[in-house]
Amino acid sequence: METYRAFHQRSVTDREGFWREQAAAIDWHRPFEQVLDYSQPPFARWFVGGNTNLCHNAVDRHLQTRGDQNALIYISTETGQQTTYTFNQLHREVNRCAAVLQGQGLERGDRLLIYMPMVPEAVFAMLACVRLGAIHSVVFGGFAAHSLASRIDDARPKIMFTADAGMRAGKPVHYKGLVDEAIKLSAHPPQKVILFNRGIDVDLDMIAGRDLDYAALREHHLDAEVPVIWLESSEPSYILYTSGTTGTPKGVQRDTGGYAVALAASMQHIYCGKPGESMFTTSDIGWVVGHSYIVYGPLIHGMASVMYEGLPIRPDPAIWWKIVEEHKVSVMFSSPTAIRVLKKQDPAYLAKHDVSSLRYLFLAGEPLDEPTARWISDALKVPVLDHYWQTETGWALLSSVPGVEVIPPKFGSPGFPVYGYDVRLLHESTGEEIGANEKGVVTVVPPLPPGCMSTVWGQDDRFVQTYFTSVADRMVYTTFDWGIRDDDGYYFILGRTDDVINVAGHRLGTREIEEAVSAHSNIAEVAVVGVKDAIKGQVPMAFAVLKDTAKTATAAGRAAMEKEVFDVVDKALGPVGRPSRVHFVTLLPKTRSGKVLRRSIQAIAEGRDPGDLTTLDDPAGIEQVRSAISGG
Ligand code: AMP
Repeated sequence: METYRAFHQRSVTDREGFWREQAAAIDWHRPFEQVLDYSQPPFARWFVGGNTNLCHNAVDRHLQTRGDQNALIYISTETGQQTTYTFNQLHREVNRCAAVLQGQGLERGDRLLIYMPMVPEAVFAMLACVRLGAIHSVVFGGFAAHSLASRIDDARPKIMFTADAGMRAGKPVHYKGLVDEAIKLSAHPPQKVILFNRGIDVDLDMIAGRDLDYAALREHHLDAEVPVIWLESSEPSYILYTSGTTGTPKGVQRDTGGYAVALAASMQHIYCGKPGESMFTTSDIGWVVGHSYIVYGPLIHGMASVMYEGLPIRPDPAIWWKIVEEHKVSVMFSSPTAIRVLKKQDPAYLAKHDVSSLRYLFLAGEPLDEPTARWISDALKVPVLDHYWQTETGWALLSSVPGVEVIPPKFGSPGFPVYGYDVRLLHESTGEEIGANEKGVVTVVPPLPPGCMSTVWGQDDRFVQTYFTSVADRMVYTTFDWGIRDDDGYYFILGRTDDVINVAGHRLGTREIEEAVSAHSNIAEVAVVGVKDAIKGQVPMAFAVLKDTAKTATAAGRAAMEKEVFDVVDKALGPVGRPSRVHFVTLLPKTRSGKVLRRSIQAIAEGRDPGDLTTLDDPAGIEQVRSAISGG
């Protein structure tokens, strides 16, 4: 581990020298004057005074050297569409899109809210937006009107970019209606909605004066050349919302120069991709993994990015390996849930294609259990590397760095602190550093490295309060995850310290789901907990107290009520937030001070010992949970 250790050590003891070298991996229109300004902790400004642009680095700078090489390989097994864009063609489309957005008044610093399915136009819109120096906020297509509206009101976009529909498992997901509904709910609606019509929904209700057809606008700008707007390194590139313990999602704000440098360096040291090769990341552009490794990372590095719309098992469970073979994918990035889904299928599918082009399969987003890691490593005969990060960090915090030194992975461990991160495991209450094999909170001594969130959009105080105040006497960044380090220095993640749950790699706040459930007029009170699930890692489960119990006296009545709650949640949050079950009780287990004992509910739901119940106000609450779970 010597080489890795020395590399990591230098990154945190000689930050200036280390990151100055890494910054050479991107183009600077104007060189930076200072590597790091940390005069206002915990706010870090990287590459101060330098001017750059994400779109230039992802697209324009490759035109001379690899203009005719593939940049974006789009495959949809939902519609059967397959389209490939070279860097030249991507440049063309991004300029057309930028001209359209500029024509509708999008300027530097304005926000563009992108609510799109996995289509190339979503990538054009992201790149076009940053080209203009504007800030995108991509909202995952699985979120429904209420969630979308709260993000609109926080980001206050000038324009929204959307599509008629997405497709999932052969069924359309109607976007336009949701957008209309969200805008109705919003206090700060956008001036314009630009709609890319992929021809799934034919009868669209276009609102005169507000809604515009993308194809028609694009026609006017076929030869457009839109100059790049050079931004100072710390100017924001995007906002991406993530869930926390409160009901209101946080807008994670990312800078421009630091993010570009962090991604470029990670492509070399972590992912080991080479320019001209292809990378296949199976996430969605609505998540941080999609931002960093479907769009910006591979493109900045001169790689082709495979963008996939569809399920891993349709038309059959060999589809991903077929893509790897056809496009000679050298780096793949997926999630443990997807691998667990594949594990349930006939293993013969894995042997159907030649995947020898693959150098590594990376997994992240949720805990990777040992049997799944072992199964996929054996089946693929390719090194499988678990790595750990968060929307906040934008790139990996714990990982192997095979580009620096190849260290054999241990199943169940996402590896080691990545260069740039001064990771410490701290005792939950004393804040002292703990020793090997002891459980502590995973924290980072600031400044956070380039690429990490610069603040919470519009709420600097919330940034400091949420992430940097968990230890009384000093500032440390908390990840809200438990971790442990073994004698060999390998880290293991043991779950969240807060009420955030992780469903198939998607982070959800239990509070958000509780608010959605409470929107049903018959709900008096509700507690949502995350419960272990063999495929998705965790699923939300709700325990609700009803105002009127007359209709739920029978099993049929309870089923009908449960369905009504599902519908209410689908409408507010979208199917991502839907509880696996809603159990009806007449009392929730609470402490004498009125705090719901979520951890005890969770333990019972997972068949574990609920632990210390001495603070419980009325034991009947816990009994009700027990009997609801056992179907009583
Ligand atoms: P998100 O910001 O939605 O990507 O969620 C980040 C959270 O997912 C982390 O705080 C962890 O709780 C969890 N997570 C991400 N990657 C891993 C991993 N490799 N192992 C265990 N948990 C992970």
